Amino acid sequence: MADIPAEVDVAIVGAGPAGLAAATELCRLRAGRVLVVEREAEAGGVPRFCGHSPYGMREFGRPMLGPGYARALVARAEAAGAQIATGVTVTALRDGPRLTVTSDAGTGEVAARLVLLTTGIRETTRAGRMIGGTKPGGVLTTGGLQGLVYGAGLRPFRRPVILGTELVAFSAILTCRHAGIRPAAMVEPGARITARHPAGLLPRLLGLPLHLGTDLAAIEGRERVEAVVLRSGGAERRLEADGVIVTGRFRPEATLSREGGLTYDPATGGPEVDEYGRTSDPAIFAAGNLLRPVETAGWCWGEGRAVAGAMAVALAGALPPPAVRRVARTGAIAWVVPQRIAGGCSPALDTLQMRAARAASGRLSLSVDGHEAAARALRALPERRMLLPLPAGTGSPEVRLEAAP
Ligand SMILES: Cc1cc2nc3c(=O)[nH]c(=O)nc-3n(C[C@H](O)[C@H](O)[C@H](O)COP(=O)(O)OP(=O)(O)OC[C@H]3O[C@@H](n4cnc5c(N)ncnc54)[C@H](O)[C@@H]3O)c2cc1C
Repeated sequence: MADIPAEVDVAIVGAGPAGLAAATELCRLRAGRVLVVEREAEAGGVPRFCGHSPYGMREFGRPMLGPGYARALVARAEAAGAQIATGVTVTALRDGPRLTVTSDAGTGEVAARLVLLTTGIRETTRAGRMIGGTKPGGVLTTGGLQGLVYGAGLRPFRRPVILGTELVAFSAILTCRHAGIRPAAMVEPGARITARHPAGLLPRLLGLPLHLGTDLAAIEGRERVEAVVLRSGGAERRLEADGVIVTGRFRPEATLSREGGLTYDPATGGPEVDEYGRTSDPAIFAAGNLLRPVETAGWCWGEGRAVAGAMAVALAGALPPPAVRRVARTGAIAWVVPQRIAGGCSPALDTLQMRAARAASGRLSLSVDGHEAAARALRALPERRMLLPLPAGTGSPEVRLEAAP
């Protein structure tokens, strides 16, 4: 294929913050020819359509809007010497490793010494939520809304209902404000807002009615949304609205890694990795939100950069051999990353990252071969980042979250 080299040292799939940070770092470390492949027409990932702050504190030392932040990351990667091919989708990951790529110019193959997957996440759509009623236009995810508002300058509705209260739902509120859209209500099936304080203050500040313990039972309308049916405590009521924004419930964009045969972790929805970001194929690494739902751009950027460092070591043949020391989890822990520990110096992922399966006040602990190595009391919420130090040594680690009696 024209413009796409047939062979590179490192091929990176996905030009979001994680992939662009990795490309910049690999070039800085003189890792050879670095190619970033991005299916969208423009590189930058999700922040391209998040026209609100704050992005960039960790990366550029100042608050930035998403699109400017995305452009700055692209400029940095290109200045470092990375090649970014946009409008090119990777459709298969094969042994070698080799990538099958497709674009308007046709189909081709890229062979690489190492591959980094940074394909990000996607939100669960209406179809994945089993909402009843008709199927009119005007039902969008936050990403879809942001694409229309910031990407195309459109105002898809005026009085939508927002379903969900994860952090991204507040990104949806800010996007609505930017476009002059006044949401009719915010609806959350759980008993409390999922996002961390102070995000929960936003609906009150903006006078947006918040319905906790409430489900979106059905959507009504023929061509366009005309109303929604809310269900709370067995009672149903109708609320007029001209759109629905279905937010959150992220899943890693893991089709490529699953079909490529990499060991999959059903708990995170992404590929299993060790502390170097190395998957079950030692020539394929992963970083960013593909590893788990869902982290901030700054976190994913840091992770891309750190995994790039481990890849440079791997290119020099100096990474410890892969190992199968698994991190066990018990109690209310939904997932843990990394899932395996090879043991060695300078890990790229230098903490165990976890999330709670449900709200729980209790004790988070790490034991190695049955001996407690670290512990702390905490009030866990499903979206809150929980970290423990990466265990040293060669024993069998286990993380546990026990709810207080
Ligand atoms: C709607 C929404 C709003 C958000 N708002 C915020 C916010 O306000 N602040 C914040 O910090 N975080 C926010 N996030 C989280 C955001 O995902 C991260 O901030 C960050 O973008 C993650 O970086 P990443 O590089 O892991 O993935 P992404 O930014 O998702 O980038 C992945 C890239 O991979 C590409 N790709 C995927 N598959 C292929 C393939 N097969 N071939 C080629 N390319 C491929 C995609 O097109 C995409 O460009 C938001 C997320 C969403 C979905």
